[in-house]
Amino acid sequence: MSISENINQLKSQLPEEVTLVAVSKTKPNEAILEAYGTGQRIFGENKVQELVQKYEDLPKDIEWHLIGHLQTNKVKYIAPFVKLIHAVDSMKLLKEINKQALKNNRVINCLLQVKIAEEESKFGLNITDTEAIINSNKVKGLEGVNIVGLMGMATNSSNENQVSDEFKTLNTFFQQLATQNPQLTTLSMGMSGDFKLAIQEGSTMIRVGSTIFGSRNYTK
Ligand SMILES: *Cc1c(COP(=O)(O)O)cnc(C)c1O
Repeated sequence: MSISENINQLKSQLPEEVTLVAVSKTKPNEAILEAYGTGQRIFGENKVQELVQKYEDLPKDIEWHLIGHLQTNKVKYIAPFVKLIHAVDSMKLLKEINKQALKNNRVINCLLQVKIAEEESKFGLNITDTEAIINSNKVKGLEGVNIVGLMGMATNSSNENQVSDEFKTLNTFFQQLATQNPQLTTLSMGMSGDFKLAIQEGSTMIRVGSTIFGSRNYTK
């Protein structure tokens, strides 16, 4: 199937309240333009350099999301245009995003990444630190950042009960925080292999790459 067929089929399965981030990392501009042709406007990348290049090359009404781990020293390159940063996992990073946002006269939307998976390799904050950042007066005083929700990645496992439980834990935590903090509206969870489970467990934003664009080739 073609990219446009893949994306149309995927969209037809999604509840209206779930936002699709088309994850275009490693994929060429032509592939993105094909998805764009179906009306898709939100794209996600995980590397700063690739994100900046694609921003420069492609239509300016695309909303670019940085979905992967972000190093503090690279914030300045994406601050002029990035629409949402999904994986904020430290105060230090949040402060740098604030600084660069203010330099660009912008307010940058951010999600805090919460670690829900078993695997050691996954980035993210624990529940206590996430809560502390959201409730911190220092953070509330950062005028260049807007924390609009949470992001999480489940364990890469075929055990659906485990994956569902991890998503459920994150949603429960999100709902609890959102009652105190009404600016928290976005729960980013679910990728190609697990977005159906994520939606069942309350995801409002899924990040889907290979289901749309086909598998990635990392040998380059
Ligand atoms: C690559 C990536 C995705 C998309 O993965 P697929 O399995 O191709 O859908 C989602 N989220 C993050 C953080 C990623 O790095």
